[in-house]
Amino acid sequence: MFGSIEAGGTKFVCAVATDDLEIVKRDSFPTTTPEETMKLVLEFFSPYKELLKGIGIGSFGPIDIQHESPTYGYITSTPKLEWQQFDFVGTVKKAFTIPVAWTTDVNAAAYGESVFGNGKGRSSIVYYTIGTGIGGGALQYGRFVEGFSHPEMGHMLVNRHPTDTYEGNCPFHKNCLEGMASGPTIEKRAGKKGQDLSEEDAQWELEAYYLAQCAYNTTLMLSPDVIIFGGGVMKQRQVLEKMKVAFKGLLKDYVDVPELDQYLVLPKLGDNAGTYGCLALAKEQQLHS
Ligand code: ADP
Ligand code: ZN
Repeated sequence: MFGSIEAGGTKFVCAVATDDLEIVKRDSFPTTTPEETMKLVLEFFSPYKELLKGIGIGSFGPIDIQHESPTYGYITSTPKLEWQQFDFVGTVKKAFTIPVAWTTDVNAAAYGESVFGNGKGRSSIVYYTIGTGIGGGALQYGRFVEGFSHPEMGHMLVNRHPTDTYEGNCPFHKNCLEGMASGPTIEKRAGKKGQDLSEEDAQWELEAYYLAQCAYNTTLMLSPDVIIFGGGVMKQRQVLEKMKVAFKGLLKDYVDVPELDQYLVLPKLGDNAGTYGCLALAKEQQLHS
């Protein structure tokens, strides 16, 4: 069997699956402190201790993914103070002496979509989550795009919409993409949560304008086969449609992109992309270890 830990800023989603990646148990625990949350996580997996062959973790970050680093497997400079410098992989390995696959939450979701979802059969895919934060992960020929660290695509710079007077919400950059288009940004700018705004609210034009810039930048930097947009904010279906129009306007036919309905898409696995990605990564890792 394989295990999955999708570590998010608000909750940890854990799952256990058979070798064929059929989920047999799943639960979620609020993200509080490492002591409290990890106790619940380890308890969740403990009945399967003898059966588990690997665990995949997709974590909020930034995280240390450099194998030769002394802090490999740690969450590093997160704004969540209790989780700074938390040895995530070490904690899991100490409890279960099995291989642990370790990547970002968005990379895990990208992987899930590439194996089972809208990235299936494509050699280059990018996955963004538009939620409490904004993050992006890219996969090319089955490998994550990374260098000295993992990408932090959610913090790309965007141009402010001419009518937008909101200063931006990112604690580091104010008006980066996350600062201008995350769920909490919408709430601060509009005075209401995104889920409580009408489908016609002017916020969605702004949202589409910023996400279209994200799609534009991604297109010109990586020319992927597909860009998948998940996360709570994308539950507003009209945003994707408005974004396609704004994207066309920005690109001005400079490059020939795939048909937009197949190019800018929602995750086929919905909220399960990360869990399936972690499971598939755990299985992959076990095959190679
Ligand atoms: P997280 O990022 O914590 O994993 P989500 O992807 O659900 O979780 O993102 C939560 C954010 O998305 C919140 O800011 C919330 O207001 C916003 N959100 C959730 N559902 C909707 C919706 N249906 N419409 C617009 N915004 C939403
Ligand atoms: Zn930022």
